Amino acid sequence: MHCPFCGVQDTKVIDSRLVADGASVRRRRECNHCKERFTTFETAELMMPRVIKSDGTREPFNEDKLRSGLLRALEKRPVSLEVMEQAINKIKSSIRATGEREVTSHAIGHFVMDNLKQIDKVAYVRFASVYRSFEDVREFGEEIARLND
Ligand SMILES: [Zn+2]
Repeated sequence: MHCPFCGVQDTKVIDSRLVADGASVRRRRECNHCKERFTTFETAELMMPRVIKSDGTREPFNEDKLRSGLLRALEKRPVSLEVMEQAINKIKSSIRATGEREVTSHAIGHFVMDNLKQIDKVAYVRFASVYRSFEDVREFGEEIARLND
């Protein structure tokens, strides 16, 4: 695994533990070159349902897509990557917990918003506006008004 700080491939696991009721493994790693530490999460992909897109087509669940959506929403926000990775895990747990073999991208968007709402209000509003899962403009306006309270 490449070090996210200096890019070398020489990293070691210094701690490993089960999280999310054993659904994931959280690993603390250290770069042997620059000595920076970072965290990885490992979760079985097999259990993820397929995603029904808004046009009705199906595609495999794509964690990278989810991650890039969160990264965009959290850009320049005071939220650590570790907190973001935990949110990704929670979102995946919620998706799995539906027990469905297929879930809509709309439903996934709502899980993302539920998590962002707890992490960072600005990121939440950003994601919500990009995702357009608010049923209409009025509902979105009400949501922003609530956040400002
Ligand atoms: Zn490094």
